[in-house]
Parts: sequence; C-alpha cells; structure tokens
Amino acid sequence: MTSSSPPTIFYCHCANADIISQDVRQAVFTGLRASPAAFEPTSDLCGLAAERDPLLKRIASSRNIRIAACHERAVRWLFATAGAPLPDEGVKIVNMTSGSADEILTALLAGVPCGSCCGQSERPEPQAAAEGQWKPWFPVIDYDRCTGCKQCLNFCLFGVFEISSDDKVRVANPANCKLNCPACARICPETAVIFPKHPSPPINGGTVDDDQAHAEATRVNLQELLKGDVYEVLRQRDGRKVAQDIQQAMEERAKCSCASKPLETLRASMAASSPVCDCDCECHEVESQADTLQPCEPDCDCNQTDDDGRK
Ligand code: SF4
Ligand code: SF4
Repeated sequence: MTSSSPPTIFYCHCANADIISQDVRQAVFTGLRASPAAFEPTSDLCGLAAERDPLLKRIASSRNIRIAACHERAVRWLFATAGAPLPDEGVKIVNMTSGSADEILTALLAGVPCGSCCGQSERPEPQAAAEGQWKPWFPVIDYDRCTGCKQCLNFCLFGVFEISSDDKVRVANPANCKLNCPACARICPETAVIFPKHPSPPINGGTVDDDQAHAEATRVNLQELLKGDVYEVLRQRDGRKVAQDIQQAMEERAKCSCASKPLETLRASMAASSPVCDCDCECHEVESQADTLQPCEPDCDCNQTDDDGRK
C-alpha cells in the first residue's frame, strides 16, 4: 500500500438485517455521498459473496482498501468465499455495528484527496430485498479455525455444505440455508461457522473467546446425538454453556426439519392420505410446495410450544 494511492472505499448498507442501526447506516451513507471520496455502495455484501460477484475481486485487487461493513472476521471470510480474498496489508475494515457515524466516517475518509466524486450526491440509497426475494443468510466458514471435522455437514438437513475436491467442507448451496437458523454454528466445535447477520458474537464473526474446553465439549458424537436421546447426550457433556448451545442447535434444527417433511413424505403422504406439515414457519416459504401442504401432525416439532406458549 502507498499512502498516496486514493483509497477504494466499499460501503455495505446491510439493508436486509438489523445488526447496524438504521440511523448509523443512513448517516454514513449520506456522509459518504457528500464527501469528496469516490465510493462503491452495496445493499448486502453477503449477497454479493454468495453470487461470487466480480466486484469483490476488483475491490480485493486494489492497493488501499477501506470497507465499511460488520465484523472483520466475517468480512474477510465473505470475500474469501467469493474467491476474492482480501490482502493482509492495506485493508482497513470499519465495523459499523459499533461506533458512531462520525467515528466511522472519520475512519473511512482520513486523508482522502478530492476524487472522482462527480454525481455521487445523486446516488440512491441501497435497498433491502423485495418481498419474496432471497435475503442472503448462510454460513461462512473461517478456514483459520476449521479442522474439517464435518460436523456441520452431517448436521445440516438441507445440503448447504459439501466436500470440495481438496476434501474441505465448503458452503456449496448458500440459498438452501434456512433464514435465521444458526444451528450449525452452535454445533461447530471450533467456532468456525459464521453467520454475519446473527446478532451475537462469536456467531456473527465477532471475537472468539478461545476456550479449548468448549471445543472439546462440543465435539459430540453426532450419530449418537441425532438418533438417540438428546438429553442423555447433553447430560454427559461438561459445561452448562456447551449443553445450552447443543440443545439450542437441536431445537433450531428440529424447527427447520418440518421443512423437509413435505419433500420427503409428500409422495407417501398423498398415497396414504396422511397429513404433512402446514405450519407457517419460514421453512414453508417455498411456493411450489404451498398447494400441497396439509395440517401438521400433532407431534410435529413445529406444533410444540415453548414456555411462553409460542410455537
Ligand atoms: S463443524 Fe466447524 S470445524 Fe467442523 S468442518 Fe464444519 S466448520 Fe469446520
Ligand atoms: S443447519 Fe441451519 S443454519 Fe446451518 S446450514 Fe443448515 S439450515 Fe443453514
């Protein structure tokens, strides 16, 4: 990096999540628009990464990069997921989930010379996905932490993960992931699965509190866990936090499992006239299935209520 090269400023409006306050996003976007700096805005960096958008390669190949988005670990692995790894040097990532708009703008615009900003005051504010469009939510693997244990691959019901030709677990089908389900992140013993739009660290790519005991304790026997008595498996684990994580992952997985019921059982169900699920959870936002769904079985996971009486 040379200090004389004008920065390439990339701004993510994170329009499909609430992890950055709307006031901050609007103030930063307005500040960039009014500044002498040229900048590249996007509504959703996750979406660009899932589509391996060539824009990310162009940004990653710049010499002086400033990115306004979320946690650095999430941003770096999103770029890597897109086949556009950011260089180690010459990159400043400004985390907009904390700090004021003024602080963020100061970090982005420090030393910026008057650039090719003509016309950018007219730039429209990036928008959230329209009703019915995909809201990019999917796991991003931190390969600095991943040991390739395949626990996430075996745990996910929806074919999100695959094994690559070099025998690594990779996110092959991001759009298969269920909106707001972070179950595989909780089951990963290495805290290597990131959901950038999750509200809490370390799942959102925030700092990992390296607690080896946690890693050891969450290295569960998945076969035993998935076919056996979850609570017996949990009783054998040390550590309350770990037990909570695994239990929560199982509950999230169960909630999503009703989505696979129509696919797996539709033919049998139609032949036998037995009911399949029609709960209104996000798993069922698959229009092609909507006509064929029927009332849930009484013991369907999505019919169970929690302590507050919610399904
Ligand atoms: S569970 Fe975690 S460590 Fe194991 S393969 Fe998946 S991402 Fe890697
Ligand atoms: S377990 Fe849930 S969060 Fe993880 S990839 Fe599968 S659907 Fe997505």
